[in-house]
Amino acid sequence: MKALVYDEPKKFSIKEIETPKCGDNQVLIRVNVCGVCKTDIHIHNGDFISKFPLTPGHEFAGVVEKVGANVTDFKSGDRVVADNTVLCGYCYYCRRNQPLYCDNFYSLGVTGPGGFAEYVVVNHDKVFKISDDLSFDTASFVEPTACAIHGMDRINIKNGDTVLMFGSGPTGIILAQLLKHGGAGKVVVAAPSQFKLDVLNNLGIDTVKIERDNDSANEAKIRELSPKGYDVIIDATGAFSVLQLCFKYAKKGSKIVVYGVCDASDKIEISPYDVFSQEYEIIGSFAQTHCFDRAINALETSIVKVDNLVTHKFNLSDYAEALDVVASGKNNMKVLIYS
Ligand SMILES: [Zn+2]
Ligand SMILES: [Zn+2]
Repeated sequence: MKALVYDEPKKFSIKEIETPKCGDNQVLIRVNVCGVCKTDIHIHNGDFISKFPLTPGHEFAGVVEKVGANVTDFKSGDRVVADNTVLCGYCYYCRRNQPLYCDNFYSLGVTGPGGFAEYVVVNHDKVFKISDDLSFDTASFVEPTACAIHGMDRINIKNGDTVLMFGSGPTGIILAQLLKHGGAGKVVVAAPSQFKLDVLNNLGIDTVKIERDNDSANEAKIRELSPKGYDVIIDATGAFSVLQLCFKYAKKGSKIVVYGVCDASDKIEISPYDVFSQEYEIIGSFAQTHCFDRAINALETSIVKVDNLVTHKFNLSDYAEALDVVASGKNNMKVLIYS
């Protein structure tokens, strides 16, 4: 089969490799489409948990090609997606029912072979059928939606809460929709690119256009929309300077959510006195596990709409071009790769 193979960070090619064998408890999926994510940029640069050689791609949807001898819940031709997380089940965290913290956390497309290939093999317990009404393009958003649903579980929004989110990437836009449907009163997204803010406005979400180098004007606009401050402030940019800024819009009891991926070496300044006296809650949200069923439901019922998020489509052989588009960050939202 054809697959994208990284021999080491920044060194990749499209190769003809052996199609993976389908184990007794596994499902072989013929990949239709796989989304490119910012994580794939981190993987490209070698600054993530990945091990090489590696075939990345963790946002895939496709059709069952073959099932293992013990698999009765799927058959060839089923339209499916797959939760890319693989959890050991026996480590300290797995045994205390905290599987996301698994000491042996393994993830298809990040630490093991993923969906930028013609086929991917997945343990059957992580495969999910999708309805015929859900297009493969939309289904490629199940994984990012699952991550946003995990974020919702972490944030634990209350009815009427005001929310401020910095950043308007696809996962941010998905999270904003879930917050709105999850009971938030006002959801304000602050970001610089107008075409992304237009998508949010069309979804009924308030926006503030951030002007570069005009902090005071930005602050005035953000404050005007919720003069007392915000109950929940989310960094969905992964820029530590923006995360630092989040505290500015906090009020007593606010939750500050680290949703974007900062670099491991980044630092911000926090006043412990403020955290104590204002009772700030600082919440991290990392990946997901066991959120796929709810994510499929959210997309099938249009609680989450992703129709306007796809800006580019490439064939697997044009991965280099796709990566350039994603890395540039400009004028793109979701980039999809077809195998
Ligand atoms: Zn991703
Ligand atoms: Zn484990």
